[in-house]
Amino acid sequence: MSVKKSVSVLGLGSMGTALADALLMAGYRVTVWNRTPGRADGLVERGAHRAGSVSEAVAAGEVVIVCILDYADVGALLEQGGRTALKGRVVVNVTNGSPEEARAMAERVTALGAEYLDGGIMAVPEMIARPEAFVLYSGSCEAFETHRGVLDAFARSVYLGADPGLAPLNDLALLSGMYGMFGGFLHAAALVRSAGAPVAEFTSSLLAPWLRAMSGGLPEMAAQIDSGDYSVTGSPLAMQVSHDSIGDVSRAQGVSPELFAPLFALMKRRVADGHGAEGIAGVVELMHKHSAR
Ligand code: NDP
Repeated sequence: MSVKKSVSVLGLGSMGTALADALLMAGYRVTVWNRTPGRADGLVERGAHRAGSVSEAVAAGEVVIVCILDYADVGALLEQGGRTALKGRVVVNVTNGSPEEARAMAERVTALGAEYLDGGIMAVPEMIARPEAFVLYSGSCEAFETHRGVLDAFARSVYLGADPGLAPLNDLALLSGMYGMFGGFLHAAALVRSAGAPVAEFTSSLLAPWLRAMSGGLPEMAAQIDSGDYSVTGSPLAMQVSHDSIGDVSRAQGVSPELFAPLFALMKRRVADGHGAEGIAGVVELMHKHSAR
């Protein structure tokens, strides 16, 4: 019978608790620590071992998962563990931070004698250990390959590369896409409600199928952004900005167009710059200049 690895979890908020539970369910020996010790009680009842200190927790786990609120506190927390306890461990930090913070943390943890992986959890706690969840990782490839079994207990594991900043960057890119969709949904919902119609029926029968259909065009737009060639389009930008129908009708209905207005302004600027015959993907050139072009 194979002996399952020992894994420690530091930080037992709603996400850390879900991660520790997933490890218990997968049969790992789990040691937990939380700044407010009482928060570990439920996990201990479910089979986890309670560590009395950070160093005890770090010493107990071949893999050390860190999931606390603020990235700024992670370094000091791990240093409480001490160099001796950390040596030879793999630290997987799934606390949300920036790419720069992740790179600095990788240096700090490596200097303490451990390997480092930064993680971005693309799920809410209730989705952990369910098929729709995934977690982005970047940093030590060897650590990822060696401990992939542990990480797969949380969700589908996606390794992005050796630069520790890749997981947080891609995490934020995914959230940007999500908030763009939420913004469009909120504007659509306000318009439909302004006409006295139920938003639920509109969303299930019209909006969700429409967004699914439109998302099918994203790979082609992405290819245009990669190539810098925006010439092929069935919907030229000049046509799309010829009237501000969305803004005008929204105002007439008493709906604020403030979510849509910034995108419309960029589309108009792109046309004014001489790209009216091209597709909407070219708007990205106003947001970020490609260094090779
Ligand atoms: P919670 O607010 O539920 O828990 C926060 C945890 O951080 C608690 O265990 C708290 O300890 C601990 N903590 C805060 N400050 C310190 C400190 N200085 N030293 C030690 N421990 C500290 O947050 P979540 O569990 O929801 O989130 C944790 C991380 O997971 C965040 O970075 C979040 O962005 C990320 N995440 C969360 C998601 C979610 O939907 N919840 C989704 C994806 C990522 P104490 O109990 O003592 O206060």
